[in-house]
Amino acid sequence: MHKTALALASALLATAASADTLVSNVNGIQVGADGKLQHFSALTIGDDGKVRQVIEHPELVRLAGITSTVDGGGRTLLPGLIDAHGHVLGLGFSALLLDLVGTSSLDDLKQRLKAYAAAHPDARWIQGRGWNQELWPNKSFPTAADLDSVVSDRPVVLERVDGHAIVVNTSAMKAAGVTAATPSPPGGRIENGLFVDNAIELIGKTVPPATAAENDQALAKAQDILLSYGVTGVGSMSTSLADWQAMNRLGASGGLAVRLMVYADELKLLSEVPKPTPWLYGDKLRMAGIKFYADGALGSRGAWLKQPYADKPGTRGLQFHSDAEMLKLADTAASHGFQIATHAIGDAANAQVTKTYEAMSKTYGRDRRWRIEHFQIADPADIPRLAPAGIIASMQPTHQTSDRLMAEKRLGPKRLAGAYAWQSVLKSGAKLAFGTDFPVESPAPFPGLAAAISRQDMQGQPPGGWLPAERLTFAQALDAYTRDAAYAGFAEEKIGSLEPGKWADFILVDRDPTKVDARALARTEVLETWIAGKKVWARTISPSPAERGK
Ligand SMILES: [Zn+2]
Repeated sequence: MHKTALALASALLATAASADTLVSNVNGIQVGADGKLQHFSALTIGDDGKVRQVIEHPELVRLAGITSTVDGGGRTLLPGLIDAHGHVLGLGFSALLLDLVGTSSLDDLKQRLKAYAAAHPDARWIQGRGWNQELWPNKSFPTAADLDSVVSDRPVVLERVDGHAIVVNTSAMKAAGVTAATPSPPGGRIENGLFVDNAIELIGKTVPPATAAENDQALAKAQDILLSYGVTGVGSMSTSLADWQAMNRLGASGGLAVRLMVYADELKLLSEVPKPTPWLYGDKLRMAGIKFYADGALGSRGAWLKQPYADKPGTRGLQFHSDAEMLKLADTAASHGFQIATHAIGDAANAQVTKTYEAMSKTYGRDRRWRIEHFQIADPADIPRLAPAGIIASMQPTHQTSDRLMAEKRLGPKRLAGAYAWQSVLKSGAKLAFGTDFPVESPAPFPGLAAAISRQDMQGQPPGGWLPAERLTFAQALDAYTRDAAYAGFAEEKIGSLEPGKWADFILVDRDPTKVDARALARTEVLETWIAGKKVWARTISPSPAERGK
């Protein structure tokens, strides 16, 4: 059958009026509009890069107009995956700066700092990110004195994996004019060289900003990484003006491949970008909305809780805004036509943002697709409030597997019912969009899909899954990573599924994700990434286990 089809295709080549590409002999899998898995064996792509036909049975392939054929070799083809929440420039910089992800102890951090400092004698400031003291034997935060013992001749700033705390050396505090007498600002904390949430800016304002060339380098690096993981679309969160400018430079040069749905960093871009933009550069870039923060993160006890922390009863975390302030911020963004995406981790923060969106929904309507980013710890009583107000829960499955033990400590056993509650969100009728919050987590989507169906980490822990009632089916998980991630960015008419008129953004992978268990699903390798009907990335050598370890 396929041989005949190929022969016919070449015979028709000379007479074809249009120039379509046939991608045949694939094990195509996607989620249909009904939420069910669809299987197909071929698709045709117009020379505009858009899907013409999705063909279920090979014998239904019509060869009129086909001018080239790609034999999929029987491999599995999925729509390009969309990460609804990532930090694009952050991903690039984390690959270029001192990488502290996975440090196993304070000593390990010091060794890496020492090696990086020796390798970068010209760096005026040493910047790194990715440490997580929860992975260390004694779980205590690093201090300025710890860093001073390794580097004292120039400033060192090392960001925690969640971006909600930094540790700096004495030289950095001197440069920033911070002394032992400096008080912690509202919504922040200073402690032996550790700066949490709103205190970060005390140091951050002194760090020399990246140059345009460095931003371009970071964006290009991030795009390479994303394509290698099969990520063809991203909700680009907390985007700065410099980030936006780098994205526009790459777009104007024709170099943007990944489609970016951009959310500006609070109201900071409002004077430069006063309203959402149309899609630019062949649907590669769009300013879609504005990102706000309602609280901090659970790891650094910055998440704002309704009741005190189980492991620190004196605190309920950090409330960033009063209700009135939150309403005013949201209304300012919405009145300019922007979509709103608000970071909320703790149950108190989620309740405040939900209340804010309920009010926004009354004024501006439901279809503004109000997004809550993370929605990690919800009061179960608040979950049914999402759907009526058109609120989307934008969540990150690998946060659940990474945070499980820490969340149990912070919350105690009785307050976990609304934690990372994916199935409860779907059952309530609300939409769920998935992502990774890269570089907080690796942008690799398959460990997330595996976590979503199993509530287990890459090592299969805990047995049976953590709060297993919140597991999703593979179709639900893929939906949140494709169709509904597109919906969450107002892009569902362009991407998120392979249908006539939508972009031919797809990936070929090394296994059928519906036929393997969660641990094997997590290890799925992307072989090729295609955007707008063009192959933009292909695996050449097999990666080392360390590289794919996360
Ligand atoms: Zn984020």
